[in-house]
Amino acid sequence: MSDEPTGAAPATQREPISCPGCGRHDWVSWPLGHDTYPWKCFNCGKEFDLTRKRAH
Ligand SMILES: [Zn+2]
Repeated sequence: MSDEPTGAAPATQREPISCPGCGRHDWVSWPLGHDTYPWKCFNCGKEFDLTRKRAH
């Protein structure tokens, strides 16, 4: 087991997503400042450019 360092500001943010193909829910490490996230679903094997749900 390894703990993540808590001192440095992360370049990514944990975001809940759901697969547009199969509806599976997952968490991804979304790079800060990016509106889209290229993601491949390990469940249905399809690839998507996910968009952030939250409007800042
Ligand atoms: Zn899927």
